[in-house]
Amino acid sequence: MYKCKPVTLINQQLRDLISMMLQTMYESCGVGLAANQVGYPIQLFVMNATGDFEQPEEEYVFINPVILKRKGNQTDQEGCLSFPGIYADVNRAESIEIESIAINGSIQCFQWQDRPARIVQHEYDHLHGVSFVDHLSDLSLHEIREDLNELKINYEGDLRLGFAQSAEETKKRIEELEKLFCQ
Ligand code: ZN
Repeated sequence: MYKCKPVTLINQQLRDLISMMLQTMYESCGVGLAANQVGYPIQLFVMNATGDFEQPEEEYVFINPVILKRKGNQTDQEGCLSFPGIYADVNRAESIEIESIAINGSIQCFQWQDRPARIVQHEYDHLHGVSFVDHLSDLSLHEIREDLNELKINYEGDLRLGFAQSAEETKKRIEELEKLFCQ
């Protein structure tokens, strides 16, 4: 997964993208989604720790987020919409402080603990090109190796059938989208 560029324009296209991301997250029964998981190379992720679309007051949008502080340690099981069906224990900070831009353009700062802190760290990682499997011990990786191989084989099959974008197509698309949101 590629790294993301900061957003410099908060416009209707960005607001539409955020709505689409929230919808995709709920439809996939997720609790968080990063823009680059749906093909947008920008510093943006959404979260609803309840995963319940009927609790929109629990929705949070993070534009150009920066984690300022991490405290403590906690291991718990994680999954990812980009690795369907794969779950593994990941060690994360227990609490974090994060600054980002809100949808109205103001700067927002949050402190999160436990599960929301875990989701935020997971999504933040995506924006920096890191997946949860990159955090796993050799032993955990060994346990999920077969599932990972299966995903890879499926993806390669999709590529051959034209259902997935090639690296070159992806690069071109990313450059076009960066022009839209990042200057
Ligand atoms: Zn993920």
